[in-house]
Amino acid sequence: EVKKNGKNGFQFYTAQLDSELYERIELEGYLRKALERDEMVLYYQPQIRTEDSRMIGVEALIRWNHPLKGLLAPNVFIPLAEETGMIYEIGNWTLREACRQMKLWHASGGPLIPVSVNLSSQQFHQSNLVEQVKNALLETGLDARYLELEITESMMMDAAVSTAILNELTALGVKISLDDFGTGYSSLSYLKHFPIHKLKIDRSFVTDITESHSDQAIVATIISMAQNLKMEVIAEGIETKGQLDILMQNDCREIQGYYFSRPLPASEVEHDFFVPLRLQGNGTPPVSSE
Ligand code: C2E
Ligand code: MG
Ligand code: MG
Ligand code: MG
Repeated sequence: EVKKNGKNGFQFYTAQLDSELYERIELEGYLRKALERDEMVLYYQPQIRTEDSRMIGVEALIRWNHPLKGLLAPNVFIPLAEETGMIYEIGNWTLREACRQMKLWHASGGPLIPVSVNLSSQQFHQSNLVEQVKNALLETGLDARYLELEITESMMMDAAVSTAILNELTALGVKISLDDFGTGYSSLSYLKHFPIHKLKIDRSFVTDITESHSDQAIVATIISMAQNLKMEVIAEGIETKGQLDILMQNDCREIQGYYFSRPLPASEVEHDFFVPLRLQGNGTPPVSSE
């Protein structure tokens, strides 16, 4: 009996493995064609200044409009893109597309705000990254000061290499944000050596902030450290008024989260966040949020 169960269990296991492998191979095949079929799309999540609830930036977040599965989140396909090397092409497309959209908004009277673009580790370490960023700016006409690149602590393990890359990037005039800050295991000492403009406090510290004194202490500490280091700071993943209140009490001036807005297609950002402009409707340039 045991043997029979074991055998069946084993057969079931391999069958499941086969189907997982098959799905992966299938997904990979679709992913290879996704860019040429124009299936990738960028959503934009507004970043909000707490003082006056104005949108002061957007983060570009990639989605894949899969022909059969519908809209897929990045955690479903970015790891596969990284494993297969497709991330280079996808990352380059993302950079250009984000710059293109931002330039279009600026040129058509939208707010003069920056866009932040997430870089994957491979992209950060690819030899022609600086060239790609430069080209994306040149070809779209976006001024470098309106582009922010999001990296994570794990990309900065080799201090000498990261410093060289970051210096070249900032020489172009783009800004660097440290995403998911506080979740890596790296030393804080790099903060004073690297040209980093902004810390993004990870959502994991915000989720329970209304009940957790330790999360509150961590967030307050990150905010005051950023201020002392003359860096900007933004908190991610704010979903409730309670979380917002505590962050504001701790002098957090910029936030991003579902409480204000989910990531939206470009047209919905225009619809929901460019409203005063629409009412203006007389061709007068809007007041910049800067
Ligand atoms: P991230 O850069 O830390 O982006 C924040 C993620 O949190 C986004 O998920 C966003 O939709 C989500 N989020 C924002 N506000 C809230 C909130 O209030 N509550 C909750 N529960 N979630 C919130 P998304 O879009 O699924 O992206 C996940 C991750 O995928 C990103 O984390 C980023 O690391 C990666 N990613 C997204 N777009 C790109 C891209 O173009 N290139 C690369 N390399 N990675 C990307
Ligand atoms: Mg990010
Ligand atoms: Mg993040
Ligand atoms: Mg993340």
